[in-house]
Amino acid sequence: MISVQDGQNHVLAQVTSCASAELIAVPSALHRVLASDLRAPFDVPPTDNSAVDGYAVSSADLRAEGVRALEVVAELPAGAVYERALEPGQALRIMTGAPIPAAADTVIPQEVARREGATVWLPPHPKGANVRMRGEDVTADTVVLEAGIVLRPQELGLISSLGFPQVCVHVRPRVALLSTGDEVVEPGQPRHAGQIYDSNRFALRASVEQCGGDVVDLGIVPDVRDELRGRLLDAGETADIVITSGGVSVGDHDLVKDVLQDVGGIDFWQVAMQPGRPLAVGRIAGAHFFGLPGNPVASMLAFTLFVRPVLWKLAGRRRLFPELFEAKAAEPMRKKTGRREFKRGILGYREGRWEVRTTGPQGSGILSSMVAGNCLIVIEEDRGDVATGESVWVEPFVS
Ligand code: AMP
Ligand code: MG
Repeated sequence: MISVQDGQNHVLAQVTSCASAELIAVPSALHRVLASDLRAPFDVPPTDNSAVDGYAVSSADLRAEGVRALEVVAELPAGAVYERALEPGQALRIMTGAPIPAAADTVIPQEVARREGATVWLPPHPKGANVRMRGEDVTADTVVLEAGIVLRPQELGLISSLGFPQVCVHVRPRVALLSTGDEVVEPGQPRHAGQIYDSNRFALRASVEQCGGDVVDLGIVPDVRDELRGRLLDAGETADIVITSGGVSVGDHDLVKDVLQDVGGIDFWQVAMQPGRPLAVGRIAGAHFFGLPGNPVASMLAFTLFVRPVLWKLAGRRRLFPELFEAKAAEPMRKKTGRREFKRGILGYREGRWEVRTTGPQGSGILSSMVAGNCLIVIEEDRGDVATGESVWVEPFVS
């Protein structure tokens, strides 16, 4: 028996390099992993500029009390530049975003100004009011984004604000997926007695995509040794990671381990977790191999715990585990000491605190427990039964 954490350390130790980099257009880079630190080539904003529509003045020209009349010397729309310096007694009509001219340091909003012809009356304002300073967003030559982060909409905006039309990201790792089992049928096909529709391949496929992998879908393989061997060898040639579901228990038709032993290498780990069955971990050709359990909840959980960190490391991500949060148990929870248990939970904020309850029956075949839940409840090895009101860890599902 190994602990979840030892298992994770073992699989991660197998990953010694990560995917190569490619330059892609910024609009295509959402959710991709940045491959090199991004340095700002200049200050943003590049000049001091106005935060409002109004009048740029030198604060020395304003009174401490009462209004002051100044001469309006020009109008400056955003995008234009006033080439001269303001002289004493002068104001410049200025629009939001336009650069502050030399000798001006303050902008008075138009709402508080009174204008007649070329004269404007302005009330007192503190020096620097309504001026956005050069470099206040980003300072030239600093690293603004670090390699290994995942690009969100705001990062794409920041990259664009620095004038870059393209960005250097890691190539998506390729993940080959196949379902095993004579009883497993493709949705859309007729289902005969004794058969079930394949759900694992679709849940896993979406999980891989959500984690930034590029899926190679190899379909369903019946429990026929030669077919499985051929399909797995092909998968190992083309992918960075090969995932199967089903066929790793001890039944007569559980062929995955035999085939892997012939053509690659495989280890069976009894991981001290619930839900959990033996997890098959190995190599085939150049790929990392994971034989996940057939039961739908167990296969998604094993993916989350063991495949996702490997996929993220291959993808060049810095952070390999998501943040866990603390919540109060809203009901008692059964728990055996000596293993880590993962329950599907419903997390919500009630009466001033974050509370979590289970989704109901927790069998590893009950896929609807994943659907009803919005988080995993993670209960550590050394704990026993959890009483109402005790703290537990939760990992929210991402949508
Ligand atoms: P196995 O590990 O192959 O014995 O499968 C364990 C359980 O998971 C059995 O009830 C299978 O029918 C079920 N199962 C296996 N593969 C899939 C799949 N692709 N989709 C849904 N359930 C599956
Ligand atoms: Mg099977």
